[in-house]
Amino acid sequence: MSGSTPLHDAIVVGAGFAGLYAVRRAVDAGLTVLGIEAAPDVGGTWYWNRYPGARCDVESVDYSYSFDDDLQQSWTWTERFASQPEILAYLEHVADRFDIRRHYAFGTDVTGASFDPRGWWKVQTSAGAIHRATFLVCATGCLSEVNRPDIDGRDEFGGDVYYTAAWPHQDPDLRGKRVGLVGTGSSGIQAIPLIAAQAKSLVVFQRSPNYSVPMPNRPWTSDDLRRIREEYPRRRGVSAYASAGTPHGTYHKRAIEADLNERRAALWERWSEGGVLFAKTFPDQNIDLAANDIAREFAEERIRETVTDPAVARDLIPVDHPIGTKRICTDIGYYETFNRDNVRLVNLRREPIDAVTATGVRTAAAFYPCDALIFATGFDAMTGALTRIDPIGPGGDRLTGMWSDGPVTFLGLMVPRLPNLFTISGPGSPSVLSNMVLHAEVQVDWAFNLIVTARGRGAIEVEPRRDAARAWTDHVAEAAAATLFPKAQSSWYLGANIEGTKRVFMPYAGGFGTYRTHCDRVAEQGYAGLVFTTR
Ligand code: FAD
Ligand code: NAP
Repeated sequence: MSGSTPLHDAIVVGAGFAGLYAVRRAVDAGLTVLGIEAAPDVGGTWYWNRYPGARCDVESVDYSYSFDDDLQQSWTWTERFASQPEILAYLEHVADRFDIRRHYAFGTDVTGASFDPRGWWKVQTSAGAIHRATFLVCATGCLSEVNRPDIDGRDEFGGDVYYTAAWPHQDPDLRGKRVGLVGTGSSGIQAIPLIAAQAKSLVVFQRSPNYSVPMPNRPWTSDDLRRIREEYPRRRGVSAYASAGTPHGTYHKRAIEADLNERRAALWERWSEGGVLFAKTFPDQNIDLAANDIAREFAEERIRETVTDPAVARDLIPVDHPIGTKRICTDIGYYETFNRDNVRLVNLRREPIDAVTATGVRTAAAFYPCDALIFATGFDAMTGALTRIDPIGPGGDRLTGMWSDGPVTFLGLMVPRLPNLFTISGPGSPSVLSNMVLHAEVQVDWAFNLIVTARGRGAIEVEPRRDAARAWTDHVAEAAAATLFPKAQSSWYLGANIEGTKRVFMPYAGGFGTYRTHCDRVAEQGYAGLVFTTR
């Protein structure tokens, strides 16, 4: 039926950091490639998440590609933590510079994929087309499938509704409006101060408080940029095998070995550097609850000293997880926002939402009239974009069926019984626990080196052995169990935010550098754990 459509060597789904690099690698390897992207243009995360305050929380000079030295040396990041428009402009520049767009079908959703036993993937799209390729690279993102919670009455609301993860191109004018915002993860926490400054009033509906560290953002000076450009080879060299893919380490002593003054000095230093690094101030912070308590109590003191109403401060302090076991948020003026007269915090653990009505939100305790509702409710993370495509293998095995008890992958990159398929930043890879740009480069390089090897061996199919995938998945579980991460039972790292999802800690917590070493070793051993089929 689809035999007449061209057979590409590879189809890449997604045009974010990972997809763009995958298309570039395919072209470099001399392969024919078709890119497919649901959005009308490149950018991925940075195309969709245009809400006020959206920025990276990894320094811009690290949260960027390392594969091309000229690109790295010629691009100028203007701020320490780049804003969404600047990151999007960077990705557009990359697409232009390497002439990547011409390989893409934009505005096209991949709705399904199945492997034809003759040796190729058939990929169905929302345009009704079927495309064919020997290899399918799902660079679909692990934070791309928007979570639109099914709150009673949500569709009855008569005002405007916005999702931070699908924010309109034309920024909505919220002046004079009574705004309700649901969700206090990284997105909500970045957006809230700016929305509060604009709206007539803002009610923040908070189900779970999170820890947030101030982002001391500033423009890079020309001296900074000169230094960083000179240091880039060393900086990237250190990042390549570092625990989070950035050039930063931890304090040289464990928290429990340091005396009180030393601890506080180390914590203050990390706090002032800002951002997610606070989660790794001490080497034992994420493995030993006593060490974690030291950092947690320090952060809680900062909340209490910033928020003037002690009852509000109490509600803003997390109650269900050690610090850093859910993604630490990074903010500009978040806690201060709750000192404003026009902002109110509603603790949904005390007064859950009963329903959204035509004119506002009714909780168990009160009615909050709203002209606009903003959902900063996150994503069906890690697996959502992959299970929506739900690839079917040559034996009829569906991804959703095989993952009903939790994802089983080889290196977070391949799945048994689904040959020639790559899941970039899939469950079982460090992904969200690391600098995701370098992570994308590592995985894409690994995938395309394997594709070239498979072709060199005359193989038409390559897939992981089931025992190899089981062993990797067990290792992922052991790595998580050695940390405090599983203590955060409400975390999206476990799929806990999506009803019906099997709770399994999905990212690989063994560290980016360790992961990369595993990937290197598999390749050096001639791709141990994989089966190559020739015909
Ligand atoms: P994405 O950028 O998510 O791109 C995937 C693309 O695939 C999307 O454009 C989507 O439309 C497309 N797609 C998905 N399914 C289909 C389909 N079926 N058919 C067609 N197209 C499809 N990470 C960090 O390391 N540091 C940060 O500071 C950081 N900040 C972030 C801020 C926000 C607001 C968010 C949401 C995430 C952030 N992340 C950060 C994580 C971020 O997702 C990654 O850093 C990175 O951008 C992911 O790139 P990607 O190419 O893997 O996926
Ligand atoms: P998130 O962390 O999952 O936060 C979603 C919020 O919505 C949570 O507070 C959640 O509460 C709440 N929520 C979900 N469903 C709800 C419901 N039915 N009723 C009430 N509340 C509900 O999502 P996110 O903020 O978009 O962030 C996701 C990830 O993207 C981050 O962890 C980070 O990795 C990345 N990100 C990074 C940045 C950055 O600083 N660079 C910015 C944004 C995003 P519960 O916690 O109780 O589920």
